Amino acid sequence: MNQALQRGSEYFSSQFGGAPDGLWSAPGRVNLIGEHTDYNEGFAFPLAIDKRTTVAARAREDRLLRVASSAFPGVVEANLDALTPDALTGWAAYPLGVAWAMSRAAAGDGGASSGARLTGMDLALTSNVPAGAGLSSSAAVECAVAVALNDLWGLGLDRQELARIGQLAENKVVGAPTGIMDQSASLLGEPDHGILLDCQNLLTESVALGFAAAGAGLLVIDTRTSHSHADGGYASRRRSCEDGARAMGVGSLRALGPEDLPRAADLLDEKTYRRVRHIITENQRVLDTVAALRGSGAAAIGPFLNASHVSMRDDFEISTPELDLAVASAQELGAIGARMTGGGFGGAAIALVRNDDAGRVAGGIARSFARAGYTAPAIFPVTASGGARRDL
Ligand code: ADP
Ligand code: MG
Repeated sequence: MNQALQRGSEYFSSQFGGAPDGLWSAPGRVNLIGEHTDYNEGFAFPLAIDKRTTVAARAREDRLLRVASSAFPGVVEANLDALTPDALTGWAAYPLGVAWAMSRAAAGDGGASSGARLTGMDLALTSNVPAGAGLSSSAAVECAVAVALNDLWGLGLDRQELARIGQLAENKVVGAPTGIMDQSASLLGEPDHGILLDCQNLLTESVALGFAAAGAGLLVIDTRTSHSHADGGYASRRRSCEDGARAMGVGSLRALGPEDLPRAADLLDEKTYRRVRHIITENQRVLDTVAALRGSGAAAIGPFLNASHVSMRDDFEISTPELDLAVASAQELGAIGARMTGGGFGGAAIALVRNDDAGRVAGGIARSFARAGYTAPAIFPVTASGGARRDL
């Protein structure tokens, strides 16, 4: 048993006694490119990372759900018959929200009879995905719990259904209006592959990254900052995108391409125009990145990463001084490309760097943060890894 599984199993015993029926895990993700495009029915290109949340689970005879997490004190209990979105708060809203969404899916209709044949469960979570760093620790929790319940409840739901269940939990129970990217990455990741996600039809395609072949890898620069207006900022960006789509007479910004930009400039106020321009150009950059990977290899995608950052900084206005410094430093130190990643207003940046340069780039970024008087960032490599799975 590897260390993570050992830890998960021991933590389960410490909380619930005895041994779990099994262990499941799901990874966090970084988004290589395609930011705020998911709720605009556009393209995103995330990858699952080598940091995972493990859930040790055991079915019960009754209808009680008990969840514990090594990241939080205490055990939270809920009855399967009394699960309602409004009643769930705090961190337990993520795992119990998944149980709620899955019991509805099991009933097929979300009606009163939902999940009548399901058993209670003891669930113990351990994780090495940093929370709130833009690496989607929330999806890692949701997807680990989703695959565990899917197996122990014998539901046979496919990965796309599981992704929607995770999203439903996050939207309706946690109350975060997020898209489906994070769950898709966590469920569908493969080693050395990114997941090209078309959020209009939820079609996904695994695309070889070839980072190792290019002698390069991704560094995450977690600025360890998060800004209090992040939720409001996210919601207001969504609204601007909806306003822009309405004014342009389309159901979503996905329907627009670069050729629509002049008309958008005429029709929209200056700020909405910039929001719309980010989405339109970002969708194109995702497709360009995939084409460059396939045609020329990883060393060719730098310009798209860099342009994506500029678009988020200037047009979508979701970057921060810390993220800008991380990206600029990485670029000055010779990274192939760099951009902030995730929803913005704090969190992490990524830099694609040649392996020989990684130490120097990381050291240089840390020094520029120290010079600026910023909180020391956490800088670490990530590799594209496999998606949610049963481990034991
Ligand atoms: P991100 O997904 O970018 O890490 P979010 O704010 O979406 O940030 O999700 C973080 C939240 O997810 C935490 O505040 C906590 O409620 C929940 N969470 C993350 N990791 C764990 C964990 N190991 N155990 C329990 N809850 C967790
Ligand atoms: Mg999240």
